[in-house]
Amino acid sequence: MASRSADKIAIISVYDKTGLLDLAKGLQKNGVRMLASGGTARMIREANFPVEDVSAITKAPEMLAGRVKTLHPAVHGGILATDSEKDKEDLAQQNIQKVDYVICNLYPFKDTVAKIGVTVKEAVEEIDIGGVTLLRAAAKNHARVTILTDPNDYHGFLQELEKGDITEHNRQLYALKAFEHTADYDSAIAGFFRKQYASNGIQQLPLRYGTNPHQKPASAYTSLHDLPFKVLNGSPGYVNLLDALNAWPLVKELDTALSRAAAASFKHVSPAGAAIGVPLSDVERKVYMVDDIDGIDTSVLAQAYARARGADRMSSFGDMIALSREVDVPTAKIISREVSDGVVAPAFNAEALEILKKKKGGKYLVLQMDPDYDPPTQETRSVYGIQLSQHRNDALIKPSASFGSIITPKDGSLSESALRDLTVATIALKYTQSNSVSYALNGQLIGLGAGQQSRIHCTRLAGDKADNWWMRFHERTLGLKWKKGTKRADKSNAIDLLTSGLVPESGIEREDFEKHFEESPTPFTAAERKEWLSKLSEVACSSDAFFPFIDNVFRAARSGVKYVAAPMGSQNDHPVVETAEKLGITFVEQHLRLFHH
Ligand code: 5GP
Repeated sequence: MASRSADKIAIISVYDKTGLLDLAKGLQKNGVRMLASGGTARMIREANFPVEDVSAITKAPEMLAGRVKTLHPAVHGGILATDSEKDKEDLAQQNIQKVDYVICNLYPFKDTVAKIGVTVKEAVEEIDIGGVTLLRAAAKNHARVTILTDPNDYHGFLQELEKGDITEHNRQLYALKAFEHTADYDSAIAGFFRKQYASNGIQQLPLRYGTNPHQKPASAYTSLHDLPFKVLNGSPGYVNLLDALNAWPLVKELDTALSRAAAASFKHVSPAGAAIGVPLSDVERKVYMVDDIDGIDTSVLAQAYARARGADRMSSFGDMIALSREVDVPTAKIISREVSDGVVAPAFNAEALEILKKKKGGKYLVLQMDPDYDPPTQETRSVYGIQLSQHRNDALIKPSASFGSIITPKDGSLSESALRDLTVATIALKYTQSNSVSYALNGQLIGLGAGQQSRIHCTRLAGDKADNWWMRFHERTLGLKWKKGTKRADKSNAIDLLTSGLVPESGIEREDFEKHFEESPTPFTAAERKEWLSKLSEVACSSDAFFPFIDNVFRAARSGVKYVAAPMGSQNDHPVVETAEKLGITFVEQHLRLFHH
């Protein structure tokens, strides 16, 4: 049967020969002239279908042991020519015929390099050149040419061919598939050579394992030439880097927004604390366990870290620290005696670096971040094999612009400190796993509720943490008589039991609690807690999305919240604002939703 496909030409060059003979049969049936590369032609010929070698049009044999098979103007001119008169003339002059269909899939580079112990030489031989060129040329010219890469598409293609020719829409879909095929192929090649040739620590970083020890192999890399950080000491783990790459932009943004050195203490990809440097009172120094640090009066960075680490000492245990400015000795000294995993900062003074390098038996992680690094605006991650891509959350929270409108009170205004604390609370949320609500005071977080599915649970968690933080300023907590040699972490744990009102009445847990003290502390009564908590005031609270119910406002007010910044858009906006008004809270609409995952 002489179908409409007669006089059409197909070039076939497939590594994966699945379905090849069915395809050849269909092409023959439709009168398509078949030209194929060596192995492909052999298989078709052996099945008694008419096929010519590509050399029939190139007039050149395959050479260099197959490295050059289809790379020839007779092939690529035929594929790339458009229907224009000029192209027709060019082809006629060279006696080249148009190619209509290209069927090609590539050498299995991924399978080869997945084999253990594969050499560069072996991998190099699996880099398909002509095939990629066939694919790209045909896909580029999909306005006229059909490109098939997937044997699963042969059947549908032949059915369409029977009826006439391939629709524009399907040519587009096949072209897209071809581009995906070459992109995937090239990224596999780049990945292999990155492992072979890229300098460790410059463009890539092999990691011991991923999130968990059984998740191997693991690495960090960039397709840009340099990673934006250098490892000055230790070797980062996967979670360390997740923390560092969230904590760093947080402190950078805080510093920029408020023009003060900033610090963050991260655990499990959310801040346990974040602060800017604000001078510490004597009591604060005691509560944050930094009263013996020389130079803290003059080091704004040390003040920032003392606050970030001091906010929730229990959560900060084993933290990844980010510091916005050059690390000095007072800051390094605070870090040196805390249990911590690592630090990221733009610079380190020599003496400070020496102090840090001695930590953890010399294994303390020290990362130097390029402060000018500006990540691409589009970010992509892979989850369960699916690429998720989005514009990075590069919206900047600024003390003035972001807190656009004071909703209540009508003639309200914000003091400088309220604006500062709302800014700290809000920027912290931008880098906190959602849902999240934060409370801030004195330029630092005092409570953060992260990663809860309901907003009220965030508000309660953050509020309970803020309460515990404040209970640490109670004279009974300040006057605790510790046994000599009690470790800082044990102190923090015992203080947390005491301040959160969870000291057990008796039993081995009580004994365990008491073993740290010279004099057993008397737990707070409910009335004592209430009385002390009533003194907490001027707290700023931010929420990463709107408050859906008024219970959040009630809970915030119980922890001394006087300022709230939150997006609006809830059906309950009106009652939420009304409740704030009744409780004397200044409610500011914060225009951006700040979910973070
Ligand atoms: P065959 O089995 O037909 O000999 O080879 C098919 C494979 O060769 C296909 O995977 C195709 O991508 C690849 N190929 C086609 N043309 C060239 C070329 O000119 N050079 C190289 N290295 N590979 C080619």
